[in-house]
Amino acid sequence: MLFKSIVATIGLLAVSGSLAAKEKRPNLEKTFEGLHGNFGTRNTDKATVISGPTAVKMLRGEAPGKCWQVKLGDVGFKLTIEDKLDLKVQECLARLEKLPPSYRKAFAIVSEGKKDGVAFYQDLEGASAHGSQDYLNLVKDADALVIAHECGHVLEQRVTSKLPKTLAQWKSAIKKDGISVSAYGDQVAHEDLAEFSYVYATCLDGGKLDALQALSPLRFSEWEDILKAAEPVKVP
Ligand SMILES: [Zn+2]
Repeated sequence: MLFKSIVATIGLLAVSGSLAAKEKRPNLEKTFEGLHGNFGTRNTDKATVISGPTAVKMLRGEAPGKCWQVKLGDVGFKLTIEDKLDLKVQECLARLEKLPPSYRKAFAIVSEGKKDGVAFYQDLEGASAHGSQDYLNLVKDADALVIAHECGHVLEQRVTSKLPKTLAQWKSAIKKDGISVSAYGDQVAHEDLAEFSYVYATCLDGGKLDALQALSPLRFSEWEDILKAAEPVKVP
């Protein structure tokens, strides 16, 4: 989940934690924030609509919406937009096109069976996004960086369901690496992981993976394992 409006407050609280007390280096988010502006602008794959729209009752509160089946590269997934939200399909797809190709399987995971796929809502009670292996919900203004964070939750949960020690290993990696990913990530291990997912995406996109690996080698290795291991259920 991502509550942008409270990040600053949580940041202040987190500074009093033991990690921040020992930590003098800038966090990973700060170190690589220069990559945000051009994030995804070099990706050339374009998403195409395969079918739709179909009228649906969305999973969150049965909100009326429209669903499209789309394809981006070799990954098929669903896109659903709440009817009361004024947002064009192409605008949503342009945002998803910015994610590194290796993150697209998160879109397929949240499209399995009766799931809504990538779902845009008018309102998520103050949050900008929610992500799990069952949904990837976004508000209108959620950008590609927020989506990269939520993909972290989707992919981690998919791997944890097969390898239950995933988050315990992540906690150990946080401790050994001895550097904060971001103030938001300092709250709890699964948010640290989602924040790392977004920072990794910007470094992958911006050619800075070596620098990220040097600063946080154990998170780096754990995250690459998760990225590789998370798989959508194959449709027969
Ligand atoms: Zn989150």
